[in-house]
Amino acid sequence: MELFIYSEAEMEELGEKIARVLDLNDLVYLIGELGAGKTTLVRGIARGRGYKGRVTSPTFTLMNVYSTEHAQINHFDFYRLNYDEICDLGLEDYLDRKGISLIEWPQVGQGLLPEEALFINIGLVDDDYDRERKVSIMAQSKEYQEKIKELQKLC
Ligand code: ADP
Ligand code: MG
Repeated sequence: MELFIYSEAEMEELGEKIARVLDLNDLVYLIGELGAGKTTLVRGIARGRGYKGRVTSPTFTLMNVYSTEHAQINHFDFYRLNYDEICDLGLEDYLDRKGISLIEWPQVGQGLLPEEALFINIGLVDDDYDRERKVSIMAQSKEYQEKIKELQKLC
């Protein structure tokens, strides 16, 4: 599905809707250049699951964990990491077992990550940071495609 998002607040609202279709051990990949709005969308997803604290990209820590009574959210950003550092994260301990995992810049971890996930691409329009964002949400597996159908009903 594709939609256009006109503000930071609207991006957070989309995140809150996405949070409603995600299940406990789901995996989401967020793709888009710096400043596209990936972390903003993560903030909305965390809020949607009841998280009240700050949501910013992990910079000095390798990942952020947002725990609420409704889920644990694991927030990764691979932008500053190299392949070896990603290997050392012990990702397999998090994916599938410890809650919803949201990964910015999954391309950096290519080969280390499962192929089955919800793919969210956030693009600028005309390379203009002051304009709306084009958000494309895709999935290859039937399970995630069903979640997209659910999301379409909410949007
Ligand atoms: P990323 O994680 O992709 O690098 P961030 O979410 O940290 O990006 O930052 C996005 C920036 O773009 C924020 O400063 C936000 O205010 C701004 N912005 C402007 N328009 C939008 C929009 N339509 N959606 C999301 N963010 C927007
Ligand atoms: Mg970010």
